[in-house]
Amino acid sequence: MMAEDTISAVITALGQGAVGIVRISGPNALAVSGKLFRAASGKNLADYSSHTMVYGHIYDLQDNSLVDEVLAVYMDAPHSYTAEDVVEIQCHGSMQALRKILSLTYAAGAKPAERGEFTKRAFLNGRIDLTQAEAVMDIISSRSEASLKLAARQQNGELAGVLHNLRRQLLDIVVCLEAAIDYPEEDIEEITFGEVKKKILEVGANISDLLNNAHTGRILRDGLRTAIIGRPNVGKSSLLNALLKEERAIVSEYAGTTRDVIEEQLLIDGVPLVLSDTAGIRKSDDYVEQLGVKKTLELLKDTELVICVVDGNEDLIAEDEEIFKTAATRPYVIIVNKSDLNVAATFDILKQRFGSNKVIALSAKTGVGMDELFDWLKSYVYGDKGTLSSGIYVQNARHEELLRQALQSLTDAGQAVSDGMPYDCIIIDVRRAINLLGEITGDTIPDEIINEIFSRFCIGK
Ligand code: GDP
Repeated sequence: MMAEDTISAVITALGQGAVGIVRISGPNALAVSGKLFRAASGKNLADYSSHTMVYGHIYDLQDNSLVDEVLAVYMDAPHSYTAEDVVEIQCHGSMQALRKILSLTYAAGAKPAERGEFTKRAFLNGRIDLTQAEAVMDIISSRSEASLKLAARQQNGELAGVLHNLRRQLLDIVVCLEAAIDYPEEDIEEITFGEVKKKILEVGANISDLLNNAHTGRILRDGLRTAIIGRPNVGKSSLLNALLKEERAIVSEYAGTTRDVIEEQLLIDGVPLVLSDTAGIRKSDDYVEQLGVKKTLELLKDTELVICVVDGNEDLIAEDEEIFKTAATRPYVIIVNKSDLNVAATFDILKQRFGSNKVIALSAKTGVGMDELFDWLKSYVYGDKGTLSSGIYVQNARHEELLRQALQSLTDAGQAVSDGMPYDCIIIDVRRAINLLGEITGDTIPDEIINEIFSRFCIGK
């Protein structure tokens, strides 16, 4: 059901730029724009064929004053972002011009668009599914090229396609079981049971595959939260500087959205590392001695990966052991630093103890061995593949959680089959999985959750 009201918003960044765009969407888009836009040709926007750029001006009809020189384009439903009638006005990218034009659209009858409302309408009008809508937000907020690539694939409907396919397979199972209930005399029990179990396992395996890649997807999207720990003077700051030197992208500093700490993000061979407040990290290392493991763990609460540094040119001491204990609570890698000096003895001991795939010797000073650390990071993020492959990488925590629940339901269903439970019981589990997958795509999802999801978008999206 199409929305009845017409909405408008500035869809470009609100700041100075060469061009800014106001979008009007809804059944009255043309009527609204007609009250402020005059084509230089003297024709109406509606006289042009859809998707044609039309040169003209915006006027304030109140006093007939000229506001700005613009290009306007009409996109007829359903061939637009929202799948509704849309008019977009490209004006000069000034805050004043944008605000003025926006207020004129309101005066002409448009309502202010809510957060994410354009994308929400695209979803409600069936142009895109929920995974594609959510990918829009991912594209805007991508922290790495790889993440952008994944979001673009999702926006293109890759994940949606796979999920629809899995749901269809599960629906087939339900249909098959319901037939067996309705026509018991047909004696299809034997075939059905074996087949049903096999199909349930197949779909479950597909979901497992998706979940296996989800860890990679999440890191590429949100960054790998990393802490560098070690006792004083082992070379933590030097390592950090060496990492920063390798960083080929622009170092971005931004306030975390959920916490008020400054984080630093570096892209190491395409892997986004998020080091929370590096000065703080340095301080927190000293805490290891002062406050012990427990307090340090608290400081590492949001950290996924621990890079644990020791001075390879010195013997290991009790403080190092404390550091190892802390590191062992997380995925970790041990850096035997100062390999330009003599580190062989310490390196060997640590490899023996922790395994050679957990210990890297390098010199933060000369940079020798840094490549090994980068390779280690890449294999941590990408697994055996070592690089981004063409498969599907779920990047969204909501999707991941729903996939996990769906897999659990299928595991339950498989168990019910093995236990020879009545068909009804199996059907309940399979149906639950179908609904959970439908929540990802938005086919079966309560309105509150839809509203919740789109409220996280920004105005103008
Ligand atoms: P932090 O206290 O752990 O941050 O250690 P720093 O990074 O401040 O380094 C402590 C000392 O070790 C400094 O004098 C560094 O120059 C030195 N250092 C750091 N890394 C290396 C390395 O790879 N080789 C050598 N020879 N010295 C290093």
